[in-house]
Amino acid sequence: MKERVVQLEVLRYNPDTDSEPHFQRYEVTCNEEWVVLDALNKVKESIDPTLAYRWSCHMAVCGSCGMMINGEPKLSCHTFLRDYEGVIRVEPLAHFPIERDLVTAPDDFMDKLKRVKPYLIPKKEKPISEGEYKQTPAELMKFRQYSMCINCMLCYAACPEYGLTKKFIGPAAIALAHRYNQDSRDGGRDERQEVIATKEGVWECTFVGACSEVCPAHVDPAGALQQVKIASSIDWFKELLMPWSKK
Ligand code: SF4
Repeated sequence: MKERVVQLEVLRYNPDTDSEPHFQRYEVTCNEEWVVLDALNKVKESIDPTLAYRWSCHMAVCGSCGMMINGEPKLSCHTFLRDYEGVIRVEPLAHFPIERDLVTAPDDFMDKLKRVKPYLIPKKEKPISEGEYKQTPAELMKFRQYSMCINCMLCYAACPEYGLTKKFIGPAAIALAHRYNQDSRDGGRDERQEVIATKEGVWECTFVGACSEVCPAHVDPAGALQQVKIASSIDWFKELLMPWSKK
């Protein structure tokens, strides 16, 4: 297979020794069919074993190899070298604190996922002897798309609102809340709406849509957020016209 020398310009930062991040350039002989992650692995194996980055599955499923590639949030295992000419700049995901080199701290994202209660809260508990909580294919299709998230955080790195205010609950967490709110077996909508139908939730979103453009799993978080805005506006009108309807 054809080979090519690729210039990678990689952001380096070791909090123990560096006062601030800096770029380091590597010349790597790569196969034309490789992805950026392969080139980083070659650097680590044969040029510089100190380079730090996360990855696991190499097949766009685990969501751990997200980074900025020429300024765009991408999965490095799904970004082909053949699509780039000249120097390829590789940086850690934007809007997250850097732990070391290309590794960022996901704590804020994990905290936001927890806040939206991303699990089924059954409408009514029933004993196991009564069997499963069944669902029709049509009911499944209402939320299936929003359940495909791989927690890669690319949507947060692309979101200008999250860049401005870390209070924003953000695209993936709200899309996940919407996934459970749409589930016919769930009874936790009111609890989640208290978190997401708020100023720090959907009303912080200005519908730039970059989250959906970069999402490698086609979740369409921007679409989910707009649906939550519509649903919470309807709730507000209902409460205004029929205050007794609110439990
Ligand atoms: S919604 Fe898409 S971009 Fe955001 S974390 Fe999930 S998979 Fe990644």
